Amino acid sequence: MKKWQIWLIVACTVLACYGSIEADWSKCGRCQNPWYLVKAHTTECPGRSWGMFPLCEECWQKLTPQQRLPYYEEVWREWHDRWGDVRGVSEWDSLKAAVLRGK
Ligand SMILES: [Zn+2]
Repeated sequence: MKKWQIWLIVACTVLACYGSIEADWSKCGRCQNPWYLVKAHTTECPGRSWGMFPLCEECWQKLTPQQRLPYYEEVWREWHDRWGDVRGVSEWDSLKAAVLRGK
């Protein structure tokens, strides 16, 4: 196998993985609009560099913090199943608190 063929396989694998990750979180959990149509509302997890954006700005504003929680939990569970403790995704409690504070 030639070197460029190996690179092609690697590139395709990376793109395929990236594509499947994108597919899960590339849209609003409520109205199902993709992020290129609507603006996502990002909630930063306290003390962490990552944020979560299960809802678009419009849906986020329509819901109360309590109503937003299931959408966050769904994405969080997905992250947790996929990566376990990687990136601190097990810190559901602090994220939950941030959501309930209206972040
Ligand atoms: Zn929405």
